[in-house]
Amino acid sequence: MFSIAIHGGAGTIARHLLDREKQVAYEAGLNAALDAGYALLEAGGSALDAVTAAVVSLEDCPLFNAGKGSVFNHEGRHEMDASIMRGDTREAGAVAGIQGVKNPVLLAREVMTHSEHVLLSGAGAAAFARRQGLAFMPDDYFYDAFRYQQYQEALSADRVQLDHSASGDRKFSTVGAVALDSKGNLCAATSTGGMTNKKYGRIGDTPVIGAGTYASNATCAVSCTGHGELFLRQVVAHQVHCLMAYKECRLEEACRQVVMTDLVAIGGEGGLIAVDAHGNIAMPFNSEGMYRAWRSSNGYAGVAIHT
Ligand code: ASP
Repeated sequence: MFSIAIHGGAGTIARHLLDREKQVAYEAGLNAALDAGYALLEAGGSALDAVTAAVVSLEDCPLFNAGKGSVFNHEGRHEMDASIMRGDTREAGAVAGIQGVKNPVLLAREVMTHSEHVLLSGAGAAAFARRQGLAFMPDDYFYDAFRYQQYQEALSADRVQLDHSASGDRKFSTVGAVALDSKGNLCAATSTGGMTNKKYGRIGDTPVIGAGTYASNATCAVSCTGHGELFLRQVVAHQVHCLMAYKECRLEEACRQVVMTDLVAIGGEGGLIAVDAHGNIAMPFNSEGMYRAWRSSNGYAGVAIHT
């Protein structure tokens, strides 16, 4: 049995603004990432390689707020966060507030496998990326007219906003992937540009192991998307693991408790994707939608945006 699930962010284009053309574009972006990960699992590859390939594909797609499609910070730059964790060894790697790196998830993976650390930030993380030979891109690679308009709106209103325009048509489009491979190993990865017009080096839940990303072969792999400050306070991804490990909740039950009850209680909007050691998939969200796609070797598969 093997399974993969991916997300392109919770909180989506409002249903009434989603025309056929946009729907096709989002679904194509999600399916391309899902296929990249699933093909590796099908060939006997690892969950680690599958989530990496899926997140790289989403980072390269300008529709999602990660890598190429990252939102603008207060200074008009792109500061990205990413993390990855493997469930067999519980090794993890993460980067926060990095600029210019083409694929932040690859840098998070380098931190995990080729450094003695878990989380590197800013200029130091960029120096490590150079030492590891990762690809850098110039500022104009990350430029997107829609993101620039969001940034201008947020700047003039002096507001730090999740990835949605003032008209509310797009938000929280962080990306992530979780997978179970045929050897029984679980892995999770998450990547984001964070919040439009963010300042003071703001970092959300995405690069924080236990908040935005977590994996343990004993329970599940989790990747989150939503209002990072609330996900940090609720330690969302690790909370799902704890409910399974210590209360013996099933995956679906644990995820629903955290997303639909605990997060809601503190006003935390968003969702998550998770897969357990049996290949079951859960994808709850308390926002209007969550870009998501999933596929298991038992034939369970789909792509969806709203409920
Ligand atoms: N969780 C991300 C953050 O707060 C945002 C998102 O999921 O869109 O940085």
